[in-house]
Amino acid sequence: MTRMENTGKQSRSVGVFKAKRLLEDLASKEGRHTELITLYIPPGRQVSDVIANLREEYGTASNIKSRTTRHNVQSAIEKAIQRLKLIDQVPPTGLALFCGAVAQGPPGSEKMELYVLVPPEPIGVYLYRCDSRFHLEPLFDILKEKATYGIMVIDGSGATYAILRGKRLEIVKSISSGIAGKHRAGGQSARRFERLREVEINEYFKRAASYAAQIFSDIPDLKGIIIGGPGPTKQDFVEGRYLHYTLQDKVLAVVDTAYVDEQGVKEVMAKAPEILKNVRYVQERELVQQFLGELGRDSGLAVYGVEEVRKHLEAGSVRVLLLSEELDLLAVTVKCSACGFSEQRTVKEGELLSLEAETSKKPCPRCGVAALQLGEKTDLIDALTELAEKSNGEVEMISTSHEEGEMLLKSFGGVAALLRYKA
Ligand SMILES: [Zn+2]
Repeated sequence: MTRMENTGKQSRSVGVFKAKRLLEDLASKEGRHTELITLYIPPGRQVSDVIANLREEYGTASNIKSRTTRHNVQSAIEKAIQRLKLIDQVPPTGLALFCGAVAQGPPGSEKMELYVLVPPEPIGVYLYRCDSRFHLEPLFDILKEKATYGIMVIDGSGATYAILRGKRLEIVKSISSGIAGKHRAGGQSARRFERLREVEINEYFKRAASYAAQIFSDIPDLKGIIIGGPGPTKQDFVEGRYLHYTLQDKVLAVVDTAYVDEQGVKEVMAKAPEILKNVRYVQERELVQQFLGELGRDSGLAVYGVEEVRKHLEAGSVRVLLLSEELDLLAVTVKCSACGFSEQRTVKEGELLSLEAETSKKPCPRCGVAALQLGEKTDLIDALTELAEKSNGEVEMISTSHEEGEMLLKSFGGVAALLRYKA
C-alpha cells in the first residue's frame, strides 16, 4: 500500500498524527545498499528545478559500480520524478519524499516504495540523500514542539516572567511586590491593616499585569500563557482578571510551584509538556462532548459510523470530523469490471484476504456478473481526511487517553462528525 499524504489544508492534529505515523513506519525501513532516496523540498522551490536536480542525480548514479544498486537508485529517482510531475506547486509547508527499493526479507525481496508527506510545519532545507535508510531527522525536528509560550510565576513577594520558545527558555524580568509582610505594625488596627493590604495587593496585581502586557502582547505567535507560583496568590491574580483580556484568554493552566523566581519558572517549564498534553486532552474531550451533546439533543447535527459519516462528507455537510487515533481500518474500493459499478468497503487489514475471497464469488449487485474486484486500498483515516479537506471541513484526531476518546472508539466506531446543518 502506498500512503499518499494529501496536500490540502489540514489541522495541526492531523498533520502531526500523519507525520508521526509515517516516521514510525519509515524508521524501520532499510535498503539492501545505499539506494533509498530522501528528498526534502522547502516551500517556494520550483518543482521544475527539483526535477532538474533529480535528473543530474540520475546521471551521477550511472557511475555506481554495482549493477543492482545502480538500477535501484535510478529507478527510485525516476519514480520520484514521475510523482513530482503530478504536482503543480510545492505546498506552503514544503514536501518530503521518500522512495526506494525497501528490503522486505531475504536478498531479492526488495520492493519499490514511495511516500510523500506534506509536513505540518515548514521545512527549512533542501536536501537530497541516497543512503541505506531514509533521513528522518529534519522531520523529527519539525515535530518537536516549537511554539512560543509565556510563563509567569507570581506570589505575594513578586513575579517572574519568561518566554519559552520550543525548548529555549528566556527569563525576561522579575519584579518585587513591595508589599510588607503579613504581620501588622504595632498600634495599627487589624481592619486598617487588612484594607491597606488589599489596596497594596490590588496595585501590585495591576503592575504585574501591565508587565505581562509589555512582555507577552507583542509576541505574534504566542500559543498560550502558563501561570505558576506557590500558594493561592496566582489564583487570585488569574480569577481577578487583572490581565489584559487578550492575554487572559490565553491562560492555559495555573500550576503549583515551590518557588517564585527563576527556579519557579524552571519548574513550570519542566511541567510544560504534561500541561500542554493536558490542554490538548481538554480540547479533545470538549469536541467529543460537543458531539455527545448534539446527539443527546437529537439536533440532527451529529452523525457517526463510517458509512453515515462518509455520506455527509461527500455531501459537504461536515463541519468537524472526529477520528480516533486508534482507528486501524482500510477503505477498499470494490469494482465491477463488467459494468463499472463501484462501492466502498471498510475492513481491518487482516480481513483483506477474506474480503477478496468474498467478492470474487459474489455477483455484481448491478449487472449480476461475477466480475467484482478489489481496487484501491487506502488507510481509512487518509480516505476520510481527504474527503473532509475537499469540503473545507476540519479534522481532529482524538486520542484514547481519556474517557471521551475511549467512548468515541468503542461506542461510535472511532468515526463521528459534527455537521454544518441539520441532517
Ligand atoms: Zn457489474
